[in-house]
Amino acid sequence: MTISQNLTDILARIEAARKAAIAPAPTTRLVAVSKTVPEAGIREAIAAGQRLFGENRVQEAQAKYPTLKDQFPGLELHLIGPLQTNKVKEAAALFDVIQTLDRVRLADALAAERERSGRCPRLFLQINTGEEPQKAGVMPREAASLIDHARKLDLPLEGLMCIPPADDDAAPHFAFLAKLARDHGLKNLSMGMSGDFELAVKFGATHVRVGTAIFGARTLSPEA
Ligand SMILES: *Cc1c(COP(=O)(O)O)cnc(C)c1O
Repeated sequence: MTISQNLTDILARIEAARKAAIAPAPTTRLVAVSKTVPEAGIREAIAAGQRLFGENRVQEAQAKYPTLKDQFPGLELHLIGPLQTNKVKEAAALFDVIQTLDRVRLADALAAERERSGRCPRLFLQINTGEEPQKAGVMPREAASLIDHARKLDLPLEGLMCIPPADDDAAPHFAFLAKLARDHGLKNLSMGMSGDFELAVKFGATHVRVGTAIFGARTLSPEA
């Protein structure tokens, strides 16, 4: 299967899952996760019509995307990996959306960068729904106060994102994230990856993040 065929297949599966869902989101967008994928692979996806991409490292994205963004003005790039405060300036310059806001200090740094440069990507809060100590994301019990903090700073907070524990049933995590977003009036839900995006669609995902099912297995695999 080529990248183009994979994209066609996944988009059809998203549509089928939406049709079968009781309450799908108004739209579900496919974020093509291109970490470790060389530029040629990304260009193949662009040629097939894909315009929304996700990367999990600022430096890797900086090496691949500035040229592509110049060449394809409709291209949209999301940061889906953890962001260090010392990379906020670079991230704000390159990404359209940061899906991994997970702490007060990072919210403050984003607000300071907006003050400095006038730039602030749209933001999703990453929720550590499995409460895994080694994983990024704000703990569920601290989510409300971080949402409040981001809103006091008038940051463009638009949604929630989660990465369920690898060997858990993802369904309760997706249901929890959907309820948390509803409770706080947030419209976007980024959840579901290659193995479970159809399930995420059923729980109302507005964004699914799919890498290997589009581009094939990664040879290097950085921390998710
Ligand atoms: C790598 C990654 C994905 C995509 O994972 P696949 O299993 O390859 O689809 C999704 N979300 C995040 C945060 C990732 O780091």
